[in-house]
Amino acid sequence: MTTLPYIGRFAPTPSGYLHFGSLVAALASWLDARAAGGRWLLRMEDLDPPREVAGAPAAILKTLERYGLQWDGEVVYQSERHAAYQQVIDRLLAQGLAYACTCSRKQLEPYQGIYPGTCRNAGHSTQDAAIRLRVPELRYRFEDRVQGTYAQHLGSESGDFVIRRRDGLYAYQLAVVLDDAWQGVTDIVRGADLLDSTPRHLYLQELLGLPQPRYLHVPLITQPDGNKLGKSYRSPPLDADQAAPLLVRALRALGQRPEADLAHGSVDDVLRWGVEHWDSGAIPPVRTVAEAQLE
Ligand code: GLU
Ligand code: ZN
Repeated sequence: MTTLPYIGRFAPTPSGYLHFGSLVAALASWLDARAAGGRWLLRMEDLDPPREVAGAPAAILKTLERYGLQWDGEVVYQSERHAAYQQVIDRLLAQGLAYACTCSRKQLEPYQGIYPGTCRNAGHSTQDAAIRLRVPELRYRFEDRVQGTYAQHLGSESGDFVIRRRDGLYAYQLAVVLDDAWQGVTDIVRGADLLDSTPRHLYLQELLGLPQPRYLHVPLITQPDGNKLGKSYRSPPLDADQAAPLLVRALRALGQRPEADLAHGSVDDVLRWGVEHWDSGAIPPVRTVAEAQLE
């Protein structure tokens, strides 16, 4: 049996700088790729200019370099991939698999994120409308390498979902699937906040005849107040001077057991230790880990 060569990736959204939670995801993905002798690609998910922080894309790249997380090849920018996304949307519309939706946010409020199908057969024009993908009344399941079996009934737990927003911006859900396939990604390692998006990705892969990658979702890091470390909570950006100790702390968040001394070593020492000892089976199979527990 031949197996595909490993291709991993990190896909940050430049709506903020890298924080400790994104470092944990980036490190896990990098270690998993390097330990497998694989490639590690970088994709900037810059689909939403209004939410982009000026200078964030360059700052993210610089931080990754300072932290020793070197990627292979050229960075892919989703802002340069619009034509590919639009082509797929046009095809899905022509096949009747997607449709235009003119519902307002207010109209959808009572449904708590699960689209009730209002515009399914309305035949709206795509002008000034969101585009939604019809989902089947089926359960989609997959084996996550850390979190175990995850299943979701698309009809009742997601509903027809947006692939292009009303303002013309392309949705993450579509772009991520197209780009992972286009870049030949075999292994997706990312934060557990995306676990419940994955069944939608599986459906899109099936619909478009794309291969299904392996998935590994790492715990999200939560702050002392219980909030997820993330863009919406103004997490502090990563300090360049603290690279080795923060990488050691990120290793601990991933269930690895580096000795305390390693934090006084160089970035290269930490990463070399990480690759040599990488054990994805030690990652805690939970959705969140409190940052305070990592001391
Ligand atoms: N761009 C997404 C984020 O920063 C991650 C996408 C992915 O890894 O699939 O949250
Ligand atoms: Zn609608």
